[in-house]
Amino acid sequence: MNRSIINKALRPFGTTIFTEINAIAKTYNAVNLSQGAPDFDGPDYIKAKAAECIMRGPNQYIASEGIVELRRAIAHKMKRFYDVDVDTEKEITVTSGATEGLYATMMGILEPGDEVILLEPFYDTYPPVAALANANVRYVTLRGPQFELPEKELAAAFSPKTRAIVINNPQNPCGKVFTREELAYIGFLCEKYDAFAIGDEVYEHLVFDGKNHVTLMSIPELRERAFVISSTAKTFSMTGWKIGYVLASPELTKAVRMSHQFITFCGQSALQEAMAFAIDLPDTFYTELLDTYNRKRMFLFEGLKEAGLNVYLPEGAYYVMADIRSLGFEEDSTFCRMLPEKAGVAAIPASYFWKDRTMGKEYVRFCFCKTDETLKEGILRLKRFFE
Ligand code: PMP
Ligand code: GLN
Repeated sequence: MNRSIINKALRPFGTTIFTEINAIAKTYNAVNLSQGAPDFDGPDYIKAKAAECIMRGPNQYIASEGIVELRRAIAHKMKRFYDVDVDTEKEITVTSGATEGLYATMMGILEPGDEVILLEPFYDTYPPVAALANANVRYVTLRGPQFELPEKELAAAFSPKTRAIVINNPQNPCGKVFTREELAYIGFLCEKYDAFAIGDEVYEHLVFDGKNHVTLMSIPELRERAFVISSTAKTFSMTGWKIGYVLASPELTKAVRMSHQFITFCGQSALQEAMAFAIDLPDTFYTELLDTYNRKRMFLFEGLKEAGLNVYLPEGAYYVMADIRSLGFEEDSTFCRMLPEKAGVAAIPASYFWKDRTMGKEYVRFCFCKTDETLKEGILRLKRFFE
């Protein structure tokens, strides 16, 4: 065979950095603060509900758009938290995680030659999916330490070729939380250029310091132009269940459902019912989640600071970005490949979230969705190593 087996759109991407660092972490039995997956499970009563649903069924294929109980719970949640009305029948599509939601949305609307604007640092799924759709990416850089939206550069990136912009809010990896004004400005540009906004809002319930999450669905200019993608993975600490969804106006939803039916057809029946139950949990669940993560955020932030790293307090999500230059290191990739062996701790080199990797090479991402013991041990090892 004289042509490469791998689709040329995928060739530049290689194996994800999460897989790579996890393997190194395992080799050295490191405290793993790399991939954003909790080292604890969500509540037992949600698991018990899932077990009950499995025993009772449904265990066969379900409606492609997801079971009605889950779509109802999502619609109710959008009203409860954001005062947004979402139609259960026509505006919600349940997907296998936000990952499939992103894929179904982008594949549902993009054609070769379309332009997609990505704000970098970006979550690693976006560029390969754009590439698979044969779309061209325009990158707009948010610069640390504040990661503000550069409005002039953003406006210059829009053109009549722009089909969509992806906004990850709260943002992974830098923890930025977009303001209503910033989102309204994006809405203004989308309207001006007749473009769509794809919101990745998987960390919507992890917004700290009394700030509120602003969903794209609540921006008037975007209500009919937005695809809002979220997931139950982070909120209920069940990342392996892969229950996500896409919210969009009925016309836009048709595009998502068109591609979703050919990707997975439908998601996981019994687990969808368990997540309907979880989403409906009382406010105390959500406030306790935020309190717990806020405590972990401050613990990791202070600990990394004491270890000598220059750190940025994230406004949302569950990652802390650290600048390694304060400890005399230059380059994140070498640093993160050395750290598990030398310090017994694993973290993600943040330059992987930039197109031009020289941009983010001073940053390393540590995550705090870990037990207090894990975080304590990680900090202890880092302090010992940097001393
Ligand atoms: N978007 C972002 C920004 C993420 O960080 C993640 C995963 N951690 C996902 C999407 C994927 O979500 P899911 O596990 O529901 O596919
Ligand atoms: N979203 C998780 C993170 O940023 C990783 C999920 C994945 O491996 N795709 O760490």
